[in-house]
Amino acid sequence: MRSITADYGSRRLVERDIAEPPPPGPGEARLRIAAVGVCGTDRDLASFTAGEPPAGESFLVIGHEALAQVVECGADVAGLSPGDWVVPTVRRACPALCPQCAAGRRDLCLTLAFTERGIWRAHGYFTDYAVDRAGDLVPIPATLAEYGFLVEPLSVVEKAVSRALYVVQSPGRRALVLGLGPIGILAATVLSLRGFEVTVFSAESLDHPRARLLTIQNIRYTNTFGTGPADVIIEAAGSGELALAALRLLAPGGAMVVLGAREVVGSVPFLDLLVRNQTVAGIVNASRADFDAAVADLPRIPEPVRSGMIERFRFSDFGSTLYGNAGAAPKAVHMVWE
Ligand SMILES: [Zn+2]
Ligand SMILES: [Zn+2]
Repeated sequence: MRSITADYGSRRLVERDIAEPPPPGPGEARLRIAAVGVCGTDRDLASFTAGEPPAGESFLVIGHEALAQVVECGADVAGLSPGDWVVPTVRRACPALCPQCAAGRRDLCLTLAFTERGIWRAHGYFTDYAVDRAGDLVPIPATLAEYGFLVEPLSVVEKAVSRALYVVQSPGRRALVLGLGPIGILAATVLSLRGFEVTVFSAESLDHPRARLLTIQNIRYTNTFGTGPADVIIEAAGSGELALAALRLLAPGGAMVVLGAREVVGSVPFLDLLVRNQTVAGIVNASRADFDAAVADLPRIPEPVRSGMIERFRFSDFGSTLYGNAGAAPKAVHMVWE
C-alpha cells in the first residue's frame, strides 16, 4: 500500500510502498484512511527538525490528523462496526505505564517515553490502511465526516481553552489569540463559542482571506499589537518573542496558554505575575475528553468557517503542502481516497 514517509537515510520525504498491516487482533480495528491533514509538526518532520522513526526502522510514516473508516473489527470490539467513521488519537502510553498514562491521560505522560503515531517512534496515517486498538479511536457521526480531519487539531485547542478556563482567576471574558494559522483560528472560534470577546493578532494583512474566517464570526482581527488587557491569551504564532511581549497584556487573574512558542531570551516579569495572580501554562497533545469536546464543537463552527479552513490536495502532493507554499487556506488536507 502507499505511504508518505520521512526517510532518515536520505533525509527526504518519500512516497513508499509498504506492507499492509496484519488483520486486527482482539480489541483492534482495521481502518481505511480517508483523509489526512498536515500541520507545522509535519513541516518539522519534513525538515527533520522533529520526530523519530520506530525503533530499528529507517523511516517514519507521517500523518497524525486522520479521518478513517472502520473496515474490519477484531474479536472483543464493542461500540465500533465496519462503516463507522473515526478519528484516531495520536499519543500511545509509555511502556512503564506512568500514573497519568495508566489513568488515561497519556497527554500528560510523566516519563515522556510515550509514542505518537506519525510523529514519534510510531507510524502514522498518511497511508491507505492502519490497525489501532478500538479504545484509541474516537467515533464521529457520518454527518461530520466531511470535516473529521479537523477533530485532532481542534482537540489540542479544546485542551488549551479548558486549561485556561481551569486556571483563570478572573471572571473577565476578553481573549487574545496570537496567530492566524489553523490553531489560532480554531482557538478564536472556540473562545467565541464560550462567550469570549475575542481579538486575534497576527501579521497577515487585514484583508487576508484567513482574516475573513474571523470577521464573519464577529471576531476582531488586528495587526496592531497591544490592544487592551486580556483575561485569556492563547499563543499559536510559534513566536517566543511575541509570547513574552503578550505577558504584558495579561489582565489580573488571567491565564496565558502557550502552544507554539519555542525559546526566547528576554526579561520575564515574575513580579507582575505574582502581584497579579497570573498563570502561564504550556500544553501539547489532547486527552480523550478533549477529543470528545472537539467532536461536540465541530458542528457548532459555522459552515463557511469550516469550508474556508480547508484546501484539499491529492495523496502525492506533499511536495506542495510540506515543502512549498500550500495556498491561502489555513489547513491543507490530503485526500487518501481520490
Ligand atoms: Zn498536527
Ligand atoms: Zn506515561
